[in-house]
Amino acid sequence: MNRLRTLGFATITQQTRIGFLGQSSRMIPRVTYSFFQRAYTTQDFPQTLNGWACYGKGEQLKKAEFPLTQFGDDSVDMDILCCGICGTDIHCIDSGWTPTNYPAVVGHEIIGRVTRVGKNVKHLQVGDRAGVGCQCGSCHHCTNCKDHKENLCEDHAVWTFNDHWANGDTTYGGFADRWRGDKNFVFKIPDALGSVDASSILCGGVTTFAPLKRYGVGNRSKVAILGLGGLGHFGVQWAKAMGAQVVAYDVVPDKVNDAKALGCDDYILVNQAAQMVRHMDSFTHILATKVINNNWDDYFALLKKNGVFILCDIPEVPLSGLNALTMAAKQISVVGSFIGSPDDIRESLDFAAKHGVRTWAHKFPMDQVNEAIEYVRHGHPRYRAVLTN
Ligand SMILES: [Zn+2]
Ligand SMILES: [Zn+2]
Repeated sequence: MNRLRTLGFATITQQTRIGFLGQSSRMIPRVTYSFFQRAYTTQDFPQTLNGWACYGKGEQLKKAEFPLTQFGDDSVDMDILCCGICGTDIHCIDSGWTPTNYPAVVGHEIIGRVTRVGKNVKHLQVGDRAGVGCQCGSCHHCTNCKDHKENLCEDHAVWTFNDHWANGDTTYGGFADRWRGDKNFVFKIPDALGSVDASSILCGGVTTFAPLKRYGVGNRSKVAILGLGGLGHFGVQWAKAMGAQVVAYDVVPDKVNDAKALGCDDYILVNQAAQMVRHMDSFTHILATKVINNNWDDYFALLKKNGVFILCDIPEVPLSGLNALTMAAKQISVVGSFIGSPDDIRESLDFAAKHGVRTWAHKFPMDQVNEAIEYVRHGHPRYRAVLTN
């Protein structure tokens, strides 16, 4: 595929009508490339992906072919090497937050090998490893996009699955063999990071890295991580590498050795009241990857005055039971955080490469995706399930 890097000229010569599995047929331009008198056509480049699609709420995924979005000057094509399974994928399969537009190909912790780049793509070359997270597009003109906070785009953020590109094409995620999309949301993977090690940094990693950085975690901080799972195992690693004292809270006794290996200074079982009180009024930050509704009095008791409660869990029901008096008296902030911007993702990858932060992964072959999803549904991963091609 290296010859693709040197393609010189492109001419749209004709249009070809192609229809795909349940999709309305659409016009795809057939492009002829020539370089040193050798001719290439788009027929050299795959125009479809083979993905594991969900066709209904909670159903098993089935393999099917779908069209890639149209290739343009800003496009990156890649062959997918691996893709982590995130809780959001399960919510989407189950129509948990909002109704899903089936069929959907989920997966948004994607690492791939670049096979083709558009002429505007300068930061990636054919053969590079690249990653894509939860977001694959934004409007680029709203105030948040101009401030490099594209994850908060106020006009048209595009999500990597169950969404539509600006041209109306459906987005398909990483439970597949190929991905194509916008260079602005495709990130070069540092050589020091293995592909599986890097995969979940694209969502689970940056989702915890960005707020810890935003709310000033450093060597004077003491951070509680609520829930030692896919997000929490990153939270521990980031906070420790930022210099903080770190305590993890979970309900499973046999994670204590993992907690130590991840760098925790203490590990607390949340249903053990005696252990819970050990750290009362001491935390500058709580990073909640698992929040129990109406448990706010316990959480606020753990925080120091001026403490920050960072909400990284998104339960499917509204939260309730906040004690306003405690919030005021301890001047507590309860903050939400939403994935990370492209700058956050680049910084988290570099930080991970420098400090040895990585995805603790249980690997599954891509064609065992349904087994892997069941594994995740039962809460088994220590601490992420990652699908590999
Ligand atoms: Zn995610
Ligand atoms: Zn925007």
